[in-house]
Amino acid sequence: MYHSLQKNILPYLNALDDEHDVMLKTTIELAEINSGTLNVDGVNKVLSRLQQLAKPLKGTEEVIPVSSWEVVTDQGQITRHKLGDALRIHKRPDAPLKVFFCAHMDTVFSQDHHFQAVTWLDDKTINGPGVTDLKGGILILLKALQTLENSPWADQIGWEILFNPDEEIGSPGSAPLIAEAAKRVHFGMIYEPCMPDGSLAGQRKGSGNFSVVSSGKAAHAGREHHLGRNAIRALCDFVSSMDDLNGQRPGITFNPGYIHGGGATNVVPDCCVHKFNVRLEKPEDEQWCLAQLDDIINTINKRDGITLTLHGGFTRKPKILTPANQKLFEITQAYGRELGMNIDVKPTGGCCDGNNLTAAGIPNIDTLGVQGGAIHSDQEYLVVDSLVPRAKLSAALLLSLAHASHEKQDLSWLTGAAS
Ligand SMILES: [Zn+2]
Repeated sequence: MYHSLQKNILPYLNALDDEHDVMLKTTIELAEINSGTLNVDGVNKVLSRLQQLAKPLKGTEEVIPVSSWEVVTDQGQITRHKLGDALRIHKRPDAPLKVFFCAHMDTVFSQDHHFQAVTWLDDKTINGPGVTDLKGGILILLKALQTLENSPWADQIGWEILFNPDEEIGSPGSAPLIAEAAKRVHFGMIYEPCMPDGSLAGQRKGSGNFSVVSSGKAAHAGREHHLGRNAIRALCDFVSSMDDLNGQRPGITFNPGYIHGGGATNVVPDCCVHKFNVRLEKPEDEQWCLAQLDDIINTINKRDGITLTLHGGFTRKPKILTPANQKLFEITQAYGRELGMNIDVKPTGGCCDGNNLTAAGIPNIDTLGVQGGAIHSDQEYLVVDSLVPRAKLSAALLLSLAHASHEKQDLSWLTGAAS
């Protein structure tokens, strides 16, 4: 496999220099369509726009509804939230090399959040909801793929794109679509932003989201306090014991993140709800975590009149780099250097759809998007001059692999990884 860029692919990469203005303009346009995960209309509006933007790629489109999202309410009830649709576009399923592209359409900013507009911070930086995470990345994906389509080696690569509606809540609805795609492809390119210094994310932790509902018995706090069973107290005991699991096993963290319960202070509260997140580095640690949580719950449930119920589970497996994935990083770094980018690969505790692909055995790079920072806050910014270079980086990887395949080079290190 080439560790340097072949001369005959350079003109195709350089053609991207002319795309800066349209990439920037479209990123701003997409960012100003609110697509907070639960804003179904907004997510679907982004989807319609992406259908138009992807037309020149001449792929086959499918709009796919995803299942609704189960959440525990403050009253301890299970409800389901409808999610936007997913958009799948695919082409040349019988090509020798098959690539999965993924970018999410949703953002963390709900319709009623104050952060809705894009502004300029200085002449190189914009501030706006989702500009970096990851609407700018969508433009990089589309332009890199168009560059492949414009090249004489396009027939070597079959591709499918998944624009999913729910990454910011852990992809509960689109996870089956990612798992399905994993059966058809050799590697993945995902358009989460790179780190603020331009590094790519390598190894990632796994993650689980849980809710605990504590049920007790209501009673008048003055007249019949002894008849009440305090759901808040029981849940606080759970939270303390769960938080004490921190530090007991390397690489595992428990984070109590939300608590709600009770009402009038003259009533013994009969309901309290808690949500927490667990991160871990080794897939086998999931069992240990679940066993500890069960123990704590079983102990508290022995109390008279108290019932704790655990909901949720592990949604992202840890991303551990295989040799094929390492090699993908090596060649990407080498191409980046030639394009003037110094790219490190760093581990992170954050998760994304790259975790899911890795769990399905597919090597991938999941931070091929734009450079920027302060994501998930109203300070989110995008370095606009990263749009074209990052599109070149993706295109360099695609065209080099397509060219290598055309030259009948041995790509079993990559294609063998899927079998
Ligand atoms: Zn993202």
